[in-house]
Amino acid sequence: MNTHKDGTDLLMRKTIDWHERAAAMTFETRALLGADRIDAVSGKTFPTVSPLSGQHLADIADCDEVDVDRAVARARAAFESRSWSGAHPRLRKQVLHTFADLLLVHKDELALLITLDMGKPISDARREVESSVRELRFFAESVDKVYGDVVPTNDDSFGMMSREPVGVVGAITPWNFPVMMPIYKLGPALATGNSVVFKPAEQASLAALRLASLALEAGLPEGVLGVIPGGPAAGQALALHMDVDVLTFTGSTSVGKKLLTYSGQSNMKAVWLECGGKSPNIVLADAPDLEKAAEFAASAIFHGTGQVCNAGSRLLLDAAIHDEFIEMLIDKSAKFRPMDALDDSSHMGPIVDSEQLDKVVDYIDQGSAEGAQVASGGKRALEESGGYYLEPTIFVDVQPSMSIAREEIFGPVLSTIRINPGDDVVEVANDSMYGLAAAVWTSDLTRAHRLARELKAGTVYVNTYDRGDNSLPFGGYKQSGVGADRSLHALDKYTNMKTTWMDLS
Ligand code: ADP
Repeated sequence: MNTHKDGTDLLMRKTIDWHERAAAMTFETRALLGADRIDAVSGKTFPTVSPLSGQHLADIADCDEVDVDRAVARARAAFESRSWSGAHPRLRKQVLHTFADLLLVHKDELALLITLDMGKPISDARREVESSVRELRFFAESVDKVYGDVVPTNDDSFGMMSREPVGVVGAITPWNFPVMMPIYKLGPALATGNSVVFKPAEQASLAALRLASLALEAGLPEGVLGVIPGGPAAGQALALHMDVDVLTFTGSTSVGKKLLTYSGQSNMKAVWLECGGKSPNIVLADAPDLEKAAEFAASAIFHGTGQVCNAGSRLLLDAAIHDEFIEMLIDKSAKFRPMDALDDSSHMGPIVDSEQLDKVVDYIDQGSAEGAQVASGGKRALEESGGYYLEPTIFVDVQPSMSIAREEIFGPVLSTIRINPGDDVVEVANDSMYGLAAAVWTSDLTRAHRLARELKAGTVYVNTYDRGDNSLPFGGYKQSGVGADRSLHALDKYTNMKTTWMDLS
């Protein structure tokens, strides 16, 4: 591969034939136990299908409780050996940086695995790997820079707070960011010295399995990271395990709720959840640049085929600009016309699988039946490819009580609600069980600050959408989650805070 050491291609992008590369690809399909690649003890596998074509890609080890037990025991032994938790912080930092280096070196390979497995456009997949590298480096740098406190006491005492790794972390991730979601969990969990047993989503295990090999190659001691591909049964066994100290999850709210129950039924492990959303994007008549707002409103919902937890899936539109804005929005949405995800110029690939496609189509039918109007899209596309493509779909005349305004669709479907004079836009925006993200577009500084304060969401964007950085937390209010990924605050989730009190009298 002709790749510069910083991961940039020496050749022009257009010279890469992704289809040719895809045809030559081999896949890692087995679990990782210690340094060994192993089949599930039952011998069972499950098929993974490419949403680009509906074609079978590989058969993946289908782990269950027995495999989870073995992986947790191995992770516990690695933790107790102190090979990682007791290593010099300098070494842990170095290994995580080397892991990040290897992600960059293998950027194209990982990106291709992402695209083939879950359908994201190849250019988005490459960007996902790049941002995962930045995320991992942020946590690598934290290893020797975050530490405890000595607290004020009287002369006869000494009080200290130190952070200790929790032990074994169970991580369960979804399919929409097959590299970045694992890194959101592995970065802080490994940086703080834990062992991790990781169950990737069954729809997109290939990049996760490859990722684990790169962690070992980077010098992560054997057993510190175990990977158990599989479905809900593997996830459930991990969540119910008596020897898993912390569970970290990104996925649906319904599964998040089950995980809290499993914790109560087992060892009361802490459960960190990043779940669903129905995020309101509020465009007011005094938005500084309507054209830009329309462009962002389109990418807020159609980027990632709408399969993004903080998607701006509810557009709350000031009646004064409604018709003009919808026209602009339809225009901007043309960029997201469904296209072969292996084409460098594609901005929107297929939906992840046929089940999810059916679910999204059902929502579109339901929206129409409830009286909302399809302003554009609404139909399947590129059916001849065998893939699960759907047009970017914009609904207008949506009422806040309709299912398409309340439920997370997780597809390229935007529900536009008209905000008439006298309506309380904050009340409409906050009328949701979710609270992951929200956005407001206005030139009025006071109004922007007020709305940012009043919107019940973990992240509020002002005059933009879907921005953030490694140093800012990403988490939800209400039923969008518990705890946040990213930022130094994430380290708290994977450490116990210990108080040591010494009598010096
Ligand atoms: P999505 O809507 O993104 O598919 P899910 O919540 O269904 O999200 O899945 C996210 C992750 O949770 C996947 O790895 C999936 O296998 C896992 N999972 C699904 N059901 C359970 C369960 N009952 N217990 C533990 N993990 C589960």
